[in-house]
Amino acid sequence: MPTCAESRWLVLACALLGGMPAAAATPVETPYSAVSLPFELHQVPGVPVYYIEGLSGVPDSVNEGHTSNAGFVVTEAGVVVFDALGTPALGYRMLQRIREVTDKPIKYVVVSHYHADHIYGLQAFKEHGNAPVVLAQRGTLGYAGGTADSQGEDAARRLEQRRQALFPWVDEKTFIVAPDQVFDQEFTFELGGIRFEIRHLGPAHAPGDSIMLVRDYGVLFGGDVLYGGRVPFLDSPETDIRQWLAGLDYIAGLKDQVRYIIPGHGTLSEDAQQVVEATRNYILYVREAMARAVRDLVPFDEAYRNTDWSRYEKLPAFDASNRGNAYRIYLDEEGRSLK
Ligand SMILES: [Zn+2]
Repeated sequence: MPTCAESRWLVLACALLGGMPAAAATPVETPYSAVSLPFELHQVPGVPVYYIEGLSGVPDSVNEGHTSNAGFVVTEAGVVVFDALGTPALGYRMLQRIREVTDKPIKYVVVSHYHADHIYGLQAFKEHGNAPVVLAQRGTLGYAGGTADSQGEDAARRLEQRRQALFPWVDEKTFIVAPDQVFDQEFTFELGGIRFEIRHLGPAHAPGDSIMLVRDYGVLFGGDVLYGGRVPFLDSPETDIRQWLAGLDYIAGLKDQVRYIIPGHGTLSEDAQQVVEATRNYILYVREAMARAVRDLVPFDEAYRNTDWSRYEKLPAFDASNRGNAYRIYLDEEGRSLK
């Protein structure tokens, strides 16, 4: 008999029936700081694949930095983790959740890309999780560096910002864990008879964007190339829309192998095609509107005001991301028009 924590639908039902509070759980102490958010573990139906779903919005002291998704796959020979959440405390909570499911060693942590909301939890895996191999695409090295000294400026700036915005969950002791092993286009390995296929797409949303397909279970971890039921985040200096669209084409081609998509943000989806289309349609819609404005020499503010956003404005993350996304694309199109 599954418990409240074992299925996302049951979690909802339990919350509605009062069997489990939907918010403000008792704080759970970690070696970093206490986590007081509900921290539910969901299982992909019928397979040993689990995930944690972040809240929508920008990381702040209310959501405790818990804005991204992460997951793990349990095999006979060990655990493979995909992404590590946005604070060491959350990484530690994830470790605890893994230990509730299995005592197998954690062998790998695959990182979809090096953005703060997905990587600060790596510290907990390094310090308390048998030091698994952290695996990422080579393009992440510009951010993560090989050592603390060679880390990129963006990484240092972001860490400083998060020490302010997410204190005490991110503090002076928080550090960025660089990958132990990097790959270029693809990296495939087997663990406990299960095959893990990691592929670099992009740079799309960020340098080093990678997805992981667990073909045996029909599960795709999409990182931030895919968004489930919310507005994507395009407003990053390294975002490359053309490569992003090419990456979505690649994922669309996997449709016969994928039954479930766990995106970097948003909800689990059983409809791979729908997730790909929703992400693609949003990108194309913003690009088309902003390209038209640049072509007609309409200033950004006016162009933004005059664009019909009604199809997106009810989605989570619209307020936090849409204007920045549009501005980023506008600048992009402007740059292109000047070439
Ligand atoms: Zn993210």
